[in-house]
Amino acid sequence: MQPFAYSASAARIVFGAGSIDRLPAELDRLGVRRALVMCTPNQQEQAQAVADRLPGRVAGTFAEAAMHVPIEVARKAREAALALDADCALAVGGGSTVGLGKAIALESGLPIIAVPTTYAGSEATPIYGITEAGLKKTGRDPRVLPRVVIYDPELTLSLPLGLTVTSAINAIAHAAEGLYAHDGNPVIALMAEEGIRACAAALPPLHDDPCDLEARSRALYGAWLCGTVLGAVSMGLHHKLCHTLGGSFDLPHAEVHSVMLAHALHYNASAAPQAMARIAAALGATDAALGVYRLAQAHGAPLSLKAIGMPETGLDRAADLAVSTPYPNPRPLLRRALRDLLQRAYHGEAPTPD
Ligand code: NAD
Repeated sequence: MQPFAYSASAARIVFGAGSIDRLPAELDRLGVRRALVMCTPNQQEQAQAVADRLPGRVAGTFAEAAMHVPIEVARKAREAALALDADCALAVGGGSTVGLGKAIALESGLPIIAVPTTYAGSEATPIYGITEAGLKKTGRDPRVLPRVVIYDPELTLSLPLGLTVTSAINAIAHAAEGLYAHDGNPVIALMAEEGIRACAAALPPLHDDPCDLEARSRALYGAWLCGTVLGAVSMGLHHKLCHTLGGSFDLPHAEVHSVMLAHALHYNASAAPQAMARIAAALGATDAALGVYRLAQAHGAPLSLKAIGMPETGLDRAADLAVSTPYPNPRPLLRRALRDLLQRAYHGEAPTPD
């Protein structure tokens, strides 16, 4: 067995249908008096319903969270938190909203309470990202890890089916890369396998009925596990490609993960056979890359970069960017092979097992 180092996450997790009822008690535990409620412009109603549970304890609402945390939005939110004398950032939403809470916590040290409504997993990581002048800077800081996460699957019932599928595959991507991370460990590997299994198993019932609460619970449970993996070990080629494509070509986050994962796994297959076997088993497939591709295909997710707005003329630049400051990866990053990978992803070709 490989030697390893492992630090368990310090976040408190409260999970279950109806667990949002426990929010006031969680504020009490942290000694919070004035929470700043945060959301995106489209989730104001949902955030208000959460705020209504905290009479007299809401400092205000900031409803301008946006993808990739633009610095201007982060500054405005930080100013609002200060002006309103908030003593907690209460993020109700997906990765964009949790990311905004992190931007506040990074400067002020305010505790974050996260109420996730997608499967992106940001609430389970100490990773932050802020975009300035078109460049996203990311880093790790224990201050940005939410102190409490309330996972209530009832709040995910409204997540549109398309985003449900791509967001679940986004979660699977964290776990898949965690299984071949150079700094992985046996506990994280167990979480990764279980996370993939839970997310993949939730998709068929959710495809039939997006309001299936049991399936929503499984998906959110899987998202927590996969997010925990993301926060604990290093990500590789897949996340590098997605950050490059998302950041430089403004492609939608969950969709780009969903399109690229099968191709990244195919690229790494020969260099990480044990991880691939575990991923395939968790998916109930015989091949990891093809299993992911079929999962996306069967549930109506976009399969090609072309379908999500990538310009074909950008593929050369994307390949250049992918080999500059590479993430650690089991197979060396070869520009020509990556250019081929991007071409296949552009057309949405199925990976062919070797
Ligand atoms: P998102 O938070 O941008 O949400 C996408 C859209 O779905 C938004 O309009 C949102 O309002 C809406 N939405 C979310 N939940 C909903 C629900 N239950 N019902 C109806 N509408 C809902 O998307 P995301 O994929 O969750 O997050 C993406 C962002 O998170 C990216 O910027 C990514 O870089 C970041 N991220 C960061 C980490 C990290 O560890 N730092 C991890 C994962 C993602």
